[in-house]
Amino acid sequence: MSSLFEEYGLALHQTQDNDSPRSINHSNKRAIENASKEIGKNSLSPTQSQVASLLERVRELDWTTKIARELKTEAQRSAALLHCRGKSVEPCSHCAQGGPWSTCVVFPVYQGQSMYSYACSNCVYYHRAIKCSHRQAFEAQGGRNWDPAITESIVANGGLRSVLTKDHNNIAPVMKVTSPAVPKKRKQSAECAAPSQAQTQMQANTTQIATPKKTIRLQSKSAFDGEKLPWPVSPASWNDPIKLRSAIKDLETFTQIAKKRVARLDEECEAMSTADFWNQEAAKLFS
Ligand SMILES: [Zn+2]
Ligand SMILES: [Zn+2]
Repeated sequence: MSSLFEEYGLALHQTQDNDSPRSINHSNKRAIENASKEIGKNSLSPTQSQVASLLERVRELDWTTKIARELKTEAQRSAALLHCRGKSVEPCSHCAQGGPWSTCVVFPVYQGQSMYSYACSNCVYYHRAIKCSHRQAFEAQGGRNWDPAITESIVANGGLRSVLTKDHNNIAPVMKVTSPAVPKKRKQSAECAAPSQAQTQMQANTTQIATPKKTIRLQSKSAFDGEKLPWPVSPASWNDPIKLRSAIKDLETFTQIAKKRVARLDEECEAMSTADFWNQEAAKLFS
């Protein structure tokens, strides 16, 4: 069961249902070999190997300059592997200003974990992953760096996209990690805008407890439905103690994240003085 679910819908998704452990091992070995060739290395680092094993390649390096550059550093090679395999998202604050590649790409989230802590490939490229606004938002929402211990079982189950798809089909409510919307070519100083705008932004920043389209079927169908959220446990999970325990764990995580977010929003509201409000109104009027 997944918790922080990603909308990863990338085109080249390959399912490996019914694959035997042997053929999975074989295709995993091939994925790692191909990744090594791709970045011109004889062997990959543990993180690079995991990226190559967990995610199939779905895009080329879309160099902003249209001219391919040589991948000189280890960070650049790691970034390239992530870029070709991850999920494209709204530009982080760095990508909004322009990065080596035109797409902002992150590693999909699984059970609140992401490789490079959800930093994008362009920020990894420049060795500034820690400053990536996506990573900062992810960590602020309780996200953690990837735990290598879970990699093997995901690979054995056909890779991360396959596992996320299966989990999504099994469980209804999902949480979506959202980063602050970063308008292109605009500075982040517009972060605290006038109340109406600030409110919109706060909503954008929130770890939204979404009711995605696919879950509508479960709404109003359970006596346990909440005021805002449908009951998240499927009948199959209800009868399975392992899945149910896993659901409890996820629900606890969701609660913690939502509480953290509420606390942050309260702080933000308190922090906005009347003077700030009028300064921002003035900035909006005259910018
Ligand atoms: Zn980015
Ligand atoms: Zn970034």
